[in-house]
Amino acid sequence: MLEAARKAKVPVAVHLDHGQDHEILIRAMKLGFSSIMFDGAHLQLEENIRQTNEISKIAKALGVSVEAELGKILRPEGGGDEEEEEEYDPDDIYTNPKEAKTFIENTNIDALAVAYGTAHGVYTKEPVLDFDRLQLIKDITGMPLVMHGGSGLDEAAYVKSIQCGIRKLNYYSNMAFEVANTIQSKLNENRAQNKKSYYHDLSKWAMEAIQEDIVRTMRIFGSAGKA
Ligand SMILES: [Zn+2]
Repeated sequence: MLEAARKAKVPVAVHLDHGQDHEILIRAMKLGFSSIMFDGAHLQLEENIRQTNEISKIAKALGVSVEAELGKILRPEGGGDEEEEEEYDPDDIYTNPKEAKTFIENTNIDALAVAYGTAHGVYTKEPVLDFDRLQLIKDITGMPLVMHGGSGLDEAAYVKSIQCGIRKLNYYSNMAFEVANTIQSKLNENRAQNKKSYYHDLSKWAMEAIQEDIVRTMRIFGSAGKA
């Protein structure tokens, strides 16, 4: 990843996501990652502040940017079953704007991951996003905000989120899902026509499908042509 990023014609960040173990975060920085996320969202506010500061001190000395998290983003990284989710009160788990202000004032970070209704993985039902909360967090902190669980929202939800302060979008599951679907239908097509499929076909189809999905996504996010 690092080698590919260095060789790229456009600036590419290599980021360690949802790091909790300081040792792993430090190893990533030593390898040359340009960005890390310390995920202390499960901690009490004071402890999240303390541990974020501990790691950001090292990151800053190395010129690595730091993302931290406040609030609970639904489902663990890598997805999971939505059916298993329990009922929740948004005020208990979404990012609290006042806490976000305290957090930003007491830490030295570059971006804040916020919870306002998105979930990791692919959505099985339309999520309800709390844009007013997002806008409020942006207004009182002025911090670039990060969306986790950016897979498969409708176009308008991305655009509105960006308008309300989202500056980094974590997007993967939907792409991975689309790529698998493409491969599956190409295999079926070949089988129906009595054509053989080979492993190298699969990698080619995967790369093409990824490219296509990323181009589409970058246009929606407004990031095309900005490098
Ligand atoms: Zn995440």
